[in-house]
Amino acid sequence: MNRNTFLKALAALSLSFNSLPLKALNHALGPLDSTPKMPVLFMGHGSPMNAIEENPYTNGWRKMVKGLPTPKAILIISAHWETAGGTKVFAGEKPKMIYDMYGFPQNLYQVKYPSAGSPELAQEISATISEIAPTHEWGLDHGAWSVLVKMFPDASIPCFQLSLNKTRDLQWHYDLAKQLAFLRRKGVLILGSGNIVHNLRYLRIFNQPAPDWALSFDHTVTEAIKKGDHQPLIQYHKLGTAAQISVNSAEHYIPLLYTLALQEKGEPVTFSNHDIEETLLGVSMRCVKVG
Ligand code: ZN
Repeated sequence: MNRNTFLKALAALSLSFNSLPLKALNHALGPLDSTPKMPVLFMGHGSPMNAIEENPYTNGWRKMVKGLPTPKAILIISAHWETAGGTKVFAGEKPKMIYDMYGFPQNLYQVKYPSAGSPELAQEISATISEIAPTHEWGLDHGAWSVLVKMFPDASIPCFQLSLNKTRDLQWHYDLAKQLAFLRRKGVLILGSGNIVHNLRYLRIFNQPAPDWALSFDHTVTEAIKKGDHQPLIQYHKLGTAAQISVNSAEHYIPLLYTLALQEKGEPVTFSNHDIEETLLGVSMRCVKVG
C-alpha cells in the first residue's frame, strides 16, 4: 500500500468510526468489559473457626487463589442463605457481617470482612434472570466470610451473595446456575460454599477415622465430577444410604451443583483439601475448581 492509499484508507476508517453509533461500535469491537473466562470454585467451608485458625484447610484455600486472575467481583452461593420467597441477590453497597453461628469463642464474632457489594452486577443479574430478585436484606454470612478472609484477606474485591431458594428441587438449582454463566466473562468469580458431605450429628467424635459412608459418598461424587457426569449428582438421593446420610439436609450440597452447572464442555476440574487425614467426621472439606 502506497502512502496515498494508506491515507485514504485511514480517512475512510475514521469517517466510518465517527459515524457509527457508540452501541454499534461496542458491538463491533466486542463488549468492553469482556474478560478471559473466570474459573468457578466450590469451597468446603467446614467449621467457622477456620476463619481465625491456620490449618491445612486454610492453606489449601490460599493455594486455590494462586494463579487465579484477580476477580472484578465475587458472587458467593452459600449454604447459609436460604430463602423461601424466591431467589435473592444482595444488591446493597456494603454487605454487613452476619454472625450466623452459636456457641463459638468471642473473637470469632469480631471477624470483619469490609468488602464493598456490587449493586450494579446484582441489578444486571436480576434484570437478566427472571427468577432472581434484588434485596438489601442480607450481607455476608459465615459460609462466605470464613473462606473470604483467608482467600482474599484484604477485602478489596466487591462481594455479594445469591440465596438458595429452598422451595425448589436440585434440578431447578442446576438449571438456574447455568444462567449465571455470562458472569464468568465479566471477571466475576462465582464461588459455591458448602460441604459435599455434611452431617453434623457426627461432628462430636474427633480423632476417629472418617466413617465409610462419608468416604464412600465423597469418592462417588469425585468420580462423577471427574467424568463430567452431573445427572447422578443432581439425583443424589438415588445413590443409596451413604448419600442419604452424607447429604442429610441438602443446603451444604446444593452450592456444589451451582459450581458444576457452570462447567463448559471439556473444561478441566481440579480438587483441593481432599488428602487431609484428619477429616472431620461427617464433613468433607473437598474443594473443586472448574476451569
Ligand atoms: Zn456451613
